[in-house]
Amino acid sequence: MRIDLHTHSNVSDGTDSPTVLVRKAQRNGVAVVALCDHDCFDGLPEAEEAGRRFGVAVLPGIEISTHSGDAQIHLLGYGCDPWAEPLRGELSRMRASRATRVGDTLGKLEALGMHLTESDVLEQAGAATTIGRPHIADALVVKGYVADRDEAFAAYLYNGGPAYVERETLDLGRAIDLVHQARGVAVMAHPWIRGNSEAVAPELIARMVREHGLDGIEVDHPDQDQETRRMLFDLGGRLGLVRTGSSDYHGRGKTGHEIGCETTRPSALHEVTERIAARGGDLGTVEQILNRL
Ligand code: AMP
Ligand code: ZN
Ligand code: FE
Ligand code: FE
Repeated sequence: MRIDLHTHSNVSDGTDSPTVLVRKAQRNGVAVVALCDHDCFDGLPEAEEAGRRFGVAVLPGIEISTHSGDAQIHLLGYGCDPWAEPLRGELSRMRASRATRVGDTLGKLEALGMHLTESDVLEQAGAATTIGRPHIADALVVKGYVADRDEAFAAYLYNGGPAYVERETLDLGRAIDLVHQARGVAVMAHPWIRGNSEAVAPELIARMVREHGLDGIEVDHPDQDQETRRMLFDLGGRLGLVRTGSSDYHGRGKTGHEIGCETTRPSALHEVTERIAARGGDLGTVEQILNRL
């Protein structure tokens, strides 16, 4: 059974609608897929409907933008009640900050000799409720300034890059607490990609477990090499964490991240659903999730 616990639709910065994403999961032999759009739950009803149609179990997820000190950290939440406050309000505040950041980014690009308007970016964002740098990257591609998203990030948009603009994110510990208050399970996404291992020290992860009850870490991720995964697997084992694996699929937005290219072991999914149940969530066991299809 293939289980992929981290994907993005065009409700944030993926390129497939939730329906197409679930259809592709089915085609790739994925039995359980979690939709984890950035800072919003809006794609879940459509994904769940598609899941029933195509016989794929859809686990409701989210990827929350957080920080700890200078480190930018993504936190996955599974099984959250999308209506729970204050999580819902905080997410909406972060999405608003993303929208106002677009103008500032365009100003920086203008100073670098590249002219884009807000409507160029909104056109690329299309159905998205969460606007991000990838949509600005897409607008740069359309205008011919760069060849693809990767080049846009590598040249201008990377963290600290010449066209980078900060935005609001949640404190990591608080985000874990908010996920738990929404009766969800909190898993740190790809802790050690892009040289993040210094900023996200093992001590930080251990403290999040101790002080906030962090539930898991993402181990098998396309952007973490084998040695990194081995170290994360060991660390997670020592800390009693759920260790997951996923593609971080973004459609055409990211190459090398096909749905199901990395997977979560069934035993780890069991741990996730048990922890959701322990928090009062009503997803049921893995068997019940699959039987509802
Ligand atoms: P934002 O949410 O606006 O901060 O933009 C971050 C998003 O951009 C993340 O979801 C990443 O998936 C994506 N991203 C970050 N770095 C790159 C890169 N080098 N190439 C393509 N996408 C990237
Ligand atoms: Zn993304
Ligand atoms: Fe991420
Ligand atoms: Fe992601």
